[in-house]
Amino acid sequence: MTLEELDKEYILQTYKKNYVNFKEGVNSTLYDDKNKDYIDFTSGIGVVSVGHGNKKVANTICKQIKKITHTSNSYMIEPQVKLAKKISLLSGIKGSIFFANSGAEANECAIKIARKYGETKFNNKKYKVITLKHSFHGRTITTVKATGQKNMHKSYFTPYPDGFKYATNINNIYKEIDKETVAVMIELVQGEGGVQPFKKRKIQKLARFLKKKEILLIVDEVQTGIFRTGEFLASNLYQITPDIITMAKGLGGGVPIGAVLTSHKDILTYGDHGSTFGGNYLSTSASLNVCSILEDLKNNGKLKKTILHFETKLNKLYTNNLSVFTSSVGIGLMRGLRVKNIHTLDTIINKGFEAGVLVLKAGKNTLRFLPPLTISKKEINEGFKRLEMTLKTI
Ligand code: PLP
Repeated sequence: MTLEELDKEYILQTYKKNYVNFKEGVNSTLYDDKNKDYIDFTSGIGVVSVGHGNKKVANTICKQIKKITHTSNSYMIEPQVKLAKKISLLSGIKGSIFFANSGAEANECAIKIARKYGETKFNNKKYKVITLKHSFHGRTITTVKATGQKNMHKSYFTPYPDGFKYATNINNIYKEIDKETVAVMIELVQGEGGVQPFKKRKIQKLARFLKKKEILLIVDEVQTGIFRTGEFLASNLYQITPDIITMAKGLGGGVPIGAVLTSHKDILTYGDHGSTFGGNYLSTSASLNVCSILEDLKNNGKLKKTILHFETKLNKLYTNNLSVFTSSVGIGLMRGLRVKNIHTLDTIINKGFEAGVLVLKAGKNTLRFLPPLTISKKEINEGFKRLEMTLKTI
């Protein structure tokens, strides 16, 4: 049997996938089993923040796992403590952290904190969480219900947990609030929903309003976090201090890790939440290294230069192809080009793949770019050259 046949036989077919067999990656370039190279503008959907095959992270992981990979959260874990301090310092938010293994898990924990806050801090029980219609918060039964996209609420998974309300946009959140509302959960730049950044002024106004009403602001930074927007958190860029922030994706550079940062240290106590793998030696030592590499990249100005160069090339692709695209959207290295005709999206992605450049889709009409933050100028130039050639054939 070929590998593709084995995949179809032994893997649950929940993904529409491309049967390429990648063998190696060097920064933002992937090589398949025929040694064909691909410029990766996806970083595994915003995960491989420090590039493929990062030697520093690989060495850190090897060194760590030769000593200890995992104990359990019944014992203190040195890299976990150090990573929590690092995240707190980088975010500028004085808080405590719970470590999970994914974005959805981090959001589950955030919702649990909000629910307990709503149960214990008020005379009347508050439990409702408001999210946005085009949001994406995960695939577990709770986070899929927290996700505002109705097509994700498949009827065959019912019953879903109660307590979620959806606002069509930031302005409409106010209307959805009632005496049982405990939290508002938003992405500051919607990722899966179509690379949609919100206005800073609107977000700051919302944050002030919620604080006054003692309603928690949960910011889902699973995709926007860890320097993706140019700042450590999008919350830093928007100059807000949410009550709860969730992170995952780029935090581990490819090693699964999720994190929940909250200034409400006293809500969850012994026995309220847990995770076997969350925050173990493997993931936290890798993540600590990833955070340091990206912190240096920001502080030495390279990240800013990369963002500017990427933006210039992206906008050039956009203006050269006004018959295909309607707008250029996004922040930092979280970017998109909206297409005029939604049917061209898959063609661009597939033909781009054939030409050796990987790009993503977001929402119905957005070609999405989430390159590694370490991407070189040469790789950016080559990737856009291949995309320009691809567009000529459409
Ligand atoms: N939240 C946001 C904003 C995301 O973009 C994603 C994944 O794309 C998730 C949550 C879910 O993360 P995970 O797939 O790690 O569970």
